[in-house]
Amino acid sequence: MKRIFRYLLLCCLPLALRAQAPAPAATLLHPAAVFDGQDLHPGWAVLVEGTKITAVGPAAQLKAPAGATTLELPGLTLLPGLIEGHSHLLLHPYNETSWNDQVLKEPLALRVARATVSAKRTLLAGFTTARDLGTEGAGYADVGLKQAIDQGIIPGPRLLVATRALVATGSYGPHLAAVEDLPQGAQEADGVDGIIKAVREQLGHGADVIKVYADYRWGPGGTAQATFSQEELTLIVQTARSAGRGVVAHASTAEGMRRAVLAGVETIEHGDGGTPEVFKLMKQRGVGLCPTVAATDAISQYQGWKKGQGPDPERVTEKHRAVQAARQAGVALVVGGDVGVFPHGDNARELELLVQDYGYPVLDVLRAATSGNARTFHLADRGRIAPGLLADLVAVEGDPTQQVQALRKVRLVLKGGVVVKE
Ligand SMILES: [Zn+2]
Repeated sequence: MKRIFRYLLLCCLPLALRAQAPAPAATLLHPAAVFDGQDLHPGWAVLVEGTKITAVGPAAQLKAPAGATTLELPGLTLLPGLIEGHSHLLLHPYNETSWNDQVLKEPLALRVARATVSAKRTLLAGFTTARDLGTEGAGYADVGLKQAIDQGIIPGPRLLVATRALVATGSYGPHLAAVEDLPQGAQEADGVDGIIKAVREQLGHGADVIKVYADYRWGPGGTAQATFSQEELTLIVQTARSAGRGVVAHASTAEGMRRAVLAGVETIEHGDGGTPEVFKLMKQRGVGLCPTVAATDAISQYQGWKKGQGPDPERVTEKHRAVQAARQAGVALVVGGDVGVFPHGDNARELELLVQDYGYPVLDVLRAATSGNARTFHLADRGRIAPGLLADLVAVEGDPTQQVQALRKVRLVLKGGVVVKE
């Protein structure tokens, strides 16, 4: 039986590969300027052959092979496909449907059908890669979504998926005091045996990264408190790492962040209650902060905040304090908005807010959303425009290194050398 299966695999694989779109011929892209993931180069051009970038440099010096087509992109800046650092393709904005109702009442097929549309919107917005950090009750649907995208069945970004995410029993939601055993938004696991098994289950189902909730709002009066013990967090990281994967932690308390950083996670998501001491520790250990300022902004507005009128709500003030402290400590910025809390395809909102509300230089944010995120997520094949890297490219109107709003004017998207938006 096993031999037959192996034979089937061997004979079917080339067929499956042949069914993919043919590799496109050589294309010379000639924009007004190229942002290569680090700096802006006016007058540069980029040569794409097949799925890869094969040359980049001053247009006058770049020779296209015979038969290559030239794509003139006057007034446009070409940049590496943007990398979304924190999305939930299986969630949609909470002002449409509350998180509880999405987890408890929406059928899986409805959630997946909507996610296919969200994936397309993400890609057309110029985000050719997304780190999707948990299905929130939709099981392993992100793995199937990723397969559908990779097989060319639906358009979408290249995905790094976290599958179900890990929470300590009792700490997450949904919760109703009167109802036992409600479906949960993540996988509950505790103690040595439970944690090792849960991490391995998720890896076995296709998790590229393990997401853990190092704290959550389960304290007295709904305050955020640490969840897993130091030993449990360390075990999660050790188990994932021995299988070649990293761990990211949701954490918004100083104690949850401290434990997660000591355990060896690669990034902290949110970080609202981070102290200068914790950010110093993050800097020392090379842990990045993904502050998700757009989610904070969106939730505050859903709760009635009229932006620009009256004082900022406490959670916005706290986020400003945290981001400021992280910058002062020199913590690496990871760009990710927690998209899903607000609409997919609106991913640029995080970059805009980091520049407009949080005072980051636009060049720093652009670097972080391309080469920076690629480095942090171990994606050596993208995030920059350089020979040998994937031809994941975006052309926007104007100069995004001067004006972040240019990211809203996406005129061309290539993924693996294939034009997906023209
Ligand atoms: Zn999230």
